[in-house]
Order: sequence, then structure tokens, then C-alpha cells
Amino acid sequence: MHIILMGPPGAGKGTQAANLVKRYGILHISTGDMFREAVKEGTPLGKEAKSYMDAGKLVPDEVTIGIVRERLSKPDCQKGFILDGFPRTVEQADALTEILADNGIKLTGVLNINVPAADLIERAVGRRICKSCGHSFHVKFNPTKVEGVCDDCGGTTYQRADDSEETMKSRLSVYESSTRPLIDYYTKAGVYKEIDGRQDIAKVEADLAAVLEA
Ligand SMILES: [Zn+2]
Repeated sequence: MHIILMGPPGAGKGTQAANLVKRYGILHISTGDMFREAVKEGTPLGKEAKSYMDAGKLVPDEVTIGIVRERLSKPDCQKGFILDGFPRTVEQADALTEILADNGIKLTGVLNINVPAADLIERAVGRRICKSCGHSFHVKFNPTKVEGVCDDCGGTTYQRADDSEETMKSRLSVYESSTRPLIDYYTKAGVYKEIDGRQDIAKVEADLAAVLEA
């Protein structure tokens, strides 16, 4: 089972990726992990990527694609993976199509956990975090018994600066404009599927499984 998992920030992609890994015994391959591995192994591409990162520069596409090619050509990828954070552009998607074909891998599906922007903003703006233990609450969906006080440890809860409406709106608009071309790309390829991410976690997982096993 070879999957690309997509979803806007706050849609629960990380949780669902972990569920799918457990359910199918496949790998979770994120761009960040691939970079860290290549740097740690000291491969030529890893060294090149590190030189850009150390200089605070963006790693060029051909280096990123090279690292993805190295990772996806390893034998452990044959049994299945969830690709997370790649591709980000149509150019990268084209490169990925080639890499997969070279390794005899066929995509099972490109799954997008879709949640409307208004819902994601509501989720973020109402989120409260405990300063002491880090437990997460929500003023509407999972409120503390006493306002501003953590149920678990009695610590003070607060709203993270990133959880403001302004920040969420701009993150979501960047996400939307960069993702649209990829949705078109994989729709044309006949592998794109959308899952309703507004449902509870178990239902989203069941829908993902139903699509993958269809
Ligand atoms: Zn707490």
C-alpha cells in the first residue's frame, strides 16, 4: 500500500498517519525524516543538503528530489509507505512519478483529509494549552471544568500565539494555493480521493481504510 497523505494544518494528518502505519504495517516517510537520515548517514546528497541548511538557505529542488529518490529506492519501501510532506509542487510530483515507476511502485491513492477553513480556524482559536503539563483543551469541544485551569494538573491554560485567527488564515491561504495544483495533478492521474476530516477520529480512519481497500 503506497499512499500520499495530504491535509491542511490542523486537520489531524499526523494522527491518521500513525493510525494507518499501525493498521497496515507500512512506513511513515516524512520529508523531515528523509533529510535527517541523509544528513546522519553522510551521503553526498545529505552533505549537500546540510550545507544549505547550515547557511540558512532553502535546499534546492534537485537535492530534495535526489534524497527522496535514494530513500524510496531502498527495499523496505516495497512493502508500503505513507509519504508525508512530499511532493509540494507539480515539478516534484513529476519527479515522484518517475521515481515510483523506476522502482516498480504504483500509488494506491493520494488521500486528502479535507476540513473547511472555517472549521480549522474555530479549532485553532478555541484551543487552550496547559502551561504546566502541555495538555490541550478546547473552549467549545473539550472545555476545562474551571475556565483557565487544567483538569489534569491544576496549571494555568493559555492560547498559543500561533492559534490566532490571523495566523491560521494566512497559513491556510498559503496551503490552499500551493496544494491546488497538486490536487489537479493527481485528479488527472485518477488517484486523488477526499476524506471528510470534520468527523471524529475513528470515522476519518474508517473512511481512509474504506477508500484504500476499495
Ligand atoms: Zn496541566
